Amino acid sequence: FAAKRDRTVIERWRPELRAEHETDLSLQAELRSAIADGQLVLHYQPLVDPAGRVRSVEALVRWQHPDRGLLPPGAFLPQAERSAVITDLTDRVLADAVAQAARWRAAGLHLPVAVNLAAPVLAQDRFVGVIRSLLEQYDLPGAALIVEITESAVVTRPERAARRLDAVRDLGVRVAMDDFGTGYTSLALLTRLPLDELKLDRAFVNRIHHPMERVIVEAVARMANGLGLTLVAEGVEDQHTADVLNGLGFDLLQGFHFSRPVPADQLAVGERTAA
Ligand code: C2E
Ligand code: MG
Ligand code: MG
Ligand code: MG
Repeated sequence: FAAKRDRTVIERWRPELRAEHETDLSLQAELRSAIADGQLVLHYQPLVDPAGRVRSVEALVRWQHPDRGLLPPGAFLPQAERSAVITDLTDRVLADAVAQAARWRAAGLHLPVAVNLAAPVLAQDRFVGVIRSLLEQYDLPGAALIVEITESAVVTRPERAARRLDAVRDLGVRVAMDDFGTGYTSLALLTRLPLDELKLDRAFVNRIHHPMERVIVEAVARMANGLGLTLVAEGVEDQHTADVLNGLGFDLLQGFHFSRPVPADQLAVGERTAA
């Protein structure tokens, strides 16, 4: 065990790791001023019910970088999550998403907006208060907001996570388990967490036509139904997959087949919007 620890220490000082660390630091610094500068933008992707109506949207962050163009979250979120920048980023995203929900509502569109909460955010108490004051500021009910968490964010301290999510749900905000099936959750954890939605990861959705994956997805569908959870599939890319999932009792589908994530003003809701 001691030998293993020593090896870990040596690895920490490999020059490549130092370089990586320095890249992290410069990106984090750049991101911090980008946030203050308003360079983060939100795109929205609809979640569609079996009748084709848009029931909610997921807010997905992008960085409108002055030199590098529109960057996807994969290009900066991991670095943000390794530092306190994730707190600023999440505050920004929550504020923009709630403001957008309020604009839609003012236009008569009751469209709940889902925001992703990274593990380090869920590990802090403050986000509950941030959400509460944003809802008050815009005079919105909690039902206007959904928070998406991942298995990895809750696995280490499930009781603590459950308490915080309870506090969020007391505001009327719904809680979704994102990327379900890819993490480390024991099935028992599902019953111990205050959840409203289960979002099956797109790795399963992609492979729904393989008999073995199909068996897993069917089992997840039965389980979600038994637990009273809204069942969502992400990464739906074609009509056939949508038909199969609807046949299995999925409540909401999300994916390029319906719409890519787009800026709020390009979201095609209109006829397909929930009442
Ligand atoms: P996620 O929460 O699972 O979001 C779904 C991702 O799948 C999005 O990638 C979306 O563009 C992509 N996607 C949607 N439909 C399809 C499809 O049909 N096919 C394929 N191949 N992909 C599809 P995106 O926007 O690059 O975001 C990646 C991840 O970054 C998100 O995964 C989420 O974990 C994270 N993320 C995005 N925005 C935020 C944020 O504001 N805060 C935090 N903490 N994480 C965020
Ligand atoms: Mg998500
Ligand atoms: Mg997801
Ligand atoms: Mg995912």
